[in-house]
This record gives sequence, C-alpha cells and structure tokens, in this order.
Amino acid sequence: MKEYRITLLKGDGIGPEIVNEAVKVLNRAAQKHHFCVRYEEADLGGIAIDKTGVPLPQETVDKCKSADAVLLGAVGGPKWDNQPGSNRPEAGLLGIRGALGLFANLRPAVIFEPLRASSPLKEEIIGEAMDIMVVRELTGGIYFGERGRCEKNGVPAAYDTELYTVPEIERIARVAFELAMKRSKRLCSVDKANVLESSRLWRETVVRVAKEYPEVELNHLYVDNCAMQLVRNPKQFDVIVTSNMFGDILSDEASMISGSIGMLASASLAEGKFGLYEPIHGSAPDIAGQGIANPLATILSVAMMLRYSFDQKEAAEDIERAVGAVLKDNRTPDIYTPGTNRVTCAQMGDLVCQAL
Ligand code: NAD
Repeated sequence: MKEYRITLLKGDGIGPEIVNEAVKVLNRAAQKHHFCVRYEEADLGGIAIDKTGVPLPQETVDKCKSADAVLLGAVGGPKWDNQPGSNRPEAGLLGIRGALGLFANLRPAVIFEPLRASSPLKEEIIGEAMDIMVVRELTGGIYFGERGRCEKNGVPAAYDTELYTVPEIERIARVAFELAMKRSKRLCSVDKANVLESSRLWRETVVRVAKEYPEVELNHLYVDNCAMQLVRNPKQFDVIVTSNMFGDILSDEASMISGSIGMLASASLAEGKFGLYEPIHGSAPDIAGQGIANPLATILSVAMMLRYSFDQKEAAEDIERAVGAVLKDNRTPDIYTPGTNRVTCAQMGDLVCQAL
C-alpha cells in the first residue's frame, strides 16, 4: 500500500481546529482509496515563538523537508503583534516558503453550486459553473528584487525592482502549461508588456515555452484588462499564469468571486511533487476556540495535495464531490443561509467523512 508522510503545521488561532478536520477527512479518503498516511507535527508562527522564541525553528524546516507534503493551518494573532517585523508569525510563513523552494502558487477560484448566491457577481455573469486556476510565480519579481531609499531631484524617494530571469519564467510557465493540459487546454498569460521590460521578457519566454505544448491555446492579457475581465466575464478563463505581484492581486480578486474566504484552498509547489497546502484565509483570531470555523478550505487543500503531490486524482475528486454534497444542506456560520443546518467545525468535518 502506498504510504505518504505529511508534516502538519497547525499554527495559531483556528489553525488547529481546521487542520484536525482536514486530517479526519484525509484518513477517511485513505481508507476508501487504499493508501496510508503518516503524520508528524511541527510548530510555525506564534506557537513556535512561544515555545522557541522564533516563528520558524530549524526543526520545523527539517521536518517539512523530510515529508512528502506539508499541510498548514494558519499563523498569527494579536498576541504576537508587538513582535519586531522579522520575528512576527507571518515571517515564519515567508521563511518556510523560501526554505522549501515553493515557486508556484496555485489558487483555484471555484463556485460550488449551493453557494452561487454568495458570489458578489450576478448569476448571469457567473454562468453555469466557474472554475479558474490562478498560477502565481512565488519566489521572484518585485517582492524579492533590489529595493531601497534614495533621493531624487533633492527629495526623499524609494524604489523596488521587478527582475525575472528566463529560467524563473520558464519553470512557472511549464507548471501552468502542464495544468492547462490536464484541464481545458487554455492558458492566459498576464503581464504589462506594453510598459514593462520585465513583462516583455515574460511574454517572449512564455511564447517560446508554448512551442512545447502545441495543444494548449495561449493568449495574453495586460494585467489591468485581466482585472476587468475577471469581473466582467470570468467564464472566459481557465488557467491564468502571472508574476508574483500581479498574481497576488489577481488571485485575491478571482477567489473573492467565489464568495467566501472559508472555502478557498491553495497549493504552493516546489520542483518535483513536493508541495505545501493551506487555506488562503488567516488564523481568524475573532472566532478561534469557538468551534465555528469553516474547515472546508483546509479540506479542499487536502484534495489539492492528493491531486498534485500524490497523484491520487480519484480521491481528490471524491473529497470535492463530498464537499459539494454536504453544502446542499449544511453550513458553518460564515456561509449560513436560512433553510440550511447550521453546523460546527467538527460537525462539518464529520459530514464530509460520511459523504465520502
Ligand atoms: P483572517 O482571514 O484570519 O480573517 C478575516 C475574517 O474572515 C475574520 O472575520 C474571520 O473570522 C473570517 N474567517 C477567516 N477564515 C475563516 C474560516 N475558516 N471560517 C470562518 N470564518 C473565517 O484575516 P485577518 O483577520 O486579517 O488576519 C488574522 C491573522 O491571520 C493576522 O495575524 C494575519 O496576519 C494572519 N494571516 C495569516 C495568514 C496565513 O497564515 N496564511 C493569511 C492571512 C492572514
């Protein structure tokens, strides 16, 4: 029987509650689809600061590196707000992404049929179904380029630099083309090639990589146009690939179309099959410990783990189907609508297990 080793970084706030439900669902999926999962826990964020003084202890990095995949809850909270920037829980998050070489961030924006009314967009704009995958480059570009303070024309100024190398663009492009091949074979590359030299290199490189994937229909959009098109006609998109900063903004925009932060999963992938999987929301300190958090984003992150790190496509689809089925009648408070059952975090986990 196949065995997978997962390091759990439960983190702070609602992190432990939601990860526990995701583990329940993963264990049920493992039983049904005949594979075995072994877990190891490590500390990240505020809990790691409390125990060791730093948000990312070396032991955590080592435990993640020795696993097949990592499942993260969320980090941060008011208790650690007075820590200096480099020692805040969120610094641990950036640190672990860097330490694990996670260069590709996958953010699906999907609307589950029972939650269509939660979308801020009109029904006719969403259409039958919306299923967009935003692929964001995660370790290059302006967030990692040279920056500083200076003077210009005798007044104080500051600068940040957008820099991409050809290999960086090629590898993120390949991730996106591979995904497109497994989906509808359509890829939209987003840049600002009418203004930025780094975007012109981005576009040239994506066009060159496209030759390796003749079946994929590639088009290009400027980022400002893409931001508009996402709310005007989201159905036109399947896979979108873009740089770190554009992806940061567009993936948030795309995911909000689905209506609820408690439903949104993500994957951050390294070379090979290794990945870190996490919900996109934070540690929700306002509801932590009350047992009312929505665990579905974390459960859907586990489905992504099964698909992208373990090649367990059927188990992944099974979990997604179970989530869709449970949502027809059951809701945690964040997505509650009258006429449905209001359930707790643990009940939602149990219901997904039963539906599996
Ligand atoms: P948040 O995502 O934690 O919460 C925003 C709002 O959404 C809150 O009202 C919260 O109750 C609600 N919410 C979030 N997830 C939910 C869920 N699963 N079920 C039900 N409701 C949910 O964002 P915030 O309040 O800006 O940040 C809180 C802390 O989380 C901060 O310390 C922040 O730095 C941190 N944070 C961490 C991550 C991460 O770990 N990846 C991401 C974002 C924010």
